Amino acid sequence: MSAVLVINSGSSSFKYQLIDMATETELASGLVERIGEASGHARHNAAGSDRVEQTLPIPDHTAGFAVMLAAFAATGPQLSTANLVAVGHRVVQGGSIFQGPTVIDDEVLAQISALSDLAPLHNPAHVQGINAARAQFPDVPHVAVFDTSFHQTMPASAYTYAIDTALAAEYGIRRYGAHGSSHKFVSEAVAEFLDRPLAELKTIVLHLGNGASACAVDGGVSIDTSMGLTPLQGLVMGTRSGDIDPAVLFHLHRKAGMSIEELDVLLNKKSGMLGMTGNGDMRDVEDAAIAGDAVAQAALDVYYHRIRGYVGNYIAQLGGLDVIVFTAGIGENSGIIRAGALAGLEFLGIEIDPAKNDPFSRVARVISTDDSKVTVLVIPTNEELEIARQTLAVI
Ligand code: AMP
Repeated sequence: MSAVLVINSGSSSFKYQLIDMATETELASGLVERIGEASGHARHNAAGSDRVEQTLPIPDHTAGFAVMLAAFAATGPQLSTANLVAVGHRVVQGGSIFQGPTVIDDEVLAQISALSDLAPLHNPAHVQGINAARAQFPDVPHVAVFDTSFHQTMPASAYTYAIDTALAAEYGIRRYGAHGSSHKFVSEAVAEFLDRPLAELKTIVLHLGNGASACAVDGGVSIDTSMGLTPLQGLVMGTRSGDIDPAVLFHLHRKAGMSIEELDVLLNKKSGMLGMTGNGDMRDVEDAAIAGDAVAQAALDVYYHRIRGYVGNYIAQLGGLDVIVFTAGIGENSGIIRAGALAGLEFLGIEIDPAKNDPFSRVARVISTDDSKVTVLVIPTNEELEIARQTLAVI
């Protein structure tokens, strides 16, 4: 047996998962949060044991890793016998530098840190997590797996913003995309599920979670994706606006006196479903719409309209389409949203079967009619497993 520990580190929290790579199953997972606050919180789930929760002060990430190690020691599995071969770290922004998973040394860490300008909320937090994890696990390789690297295959025509070329080059302004581990995992799972060669499939992946993005995958390769320089562009999200005319910002600055910081918060934290309905959680919006709330329904219509636009765009970019696949919290769980998003696309050969789409299920499945030209699937994503696979591959 060999195991990989996957770390997803935020500024005041990190999630972890220990994965047995022979069976690709989870041995344990957990969360350490409210790091640096008066009272921190940790949760540890070991397969076959009861979940353990603790509330205690966790001053920094290093202390957080000590809490995690203590939880492994107390509840298992024992890391000393798990044959831990590597630690895989999720990193949001790899810029144009990192084309794939990369073993972390001091130089790589400095490059991840230098990319913080492009991901100010994420990369500094990853650096903190990586430093703490390297201190706790000095004897195994640490690997960075980037959300952006799957999209490094996009052609220049897809990733270039039509602005001054020299300015764009100087400041690294281009589309990078995100959710790469999910798009890669799910698009490969499609080929496996359908038992068809990946190389011949044209697929649109709709990753619909609190963050949401669409990806056009041609033969296993990302050729376009909806997120941009940052994860703000594209689909309507829980709290993010997605696509918007940039002139809205000039207008709000000039007319409403809003500062750059206020506009950043507006578009990233107070827009999307939250901005339109007052609630960023899709379950609540859906329930409200079912109960007859016209505001919630109008917001869902915007959400659907945006997705349909990307589906049409990506059919054109791919030059055809075999599969649409839904994944992540909303995509996996909401038949109503899946049906709403693809309604009216029957003329393109995209036809959902309510008898397959409506029942709740946790497994990969087909939800299109037998006659649908395009196969519509639901496939649960597993970003941690994808990170662990890429980590193992590179060591
Ligand atoms: P994620 O970011 O992938 O964890 O997805 C979180 C989003 O999934 C939240 O907006 C949840 O409200 C949404 N979600 C989870 N379950 C459901 C469901 N049954 N119906 C609608 N949305 C759901």
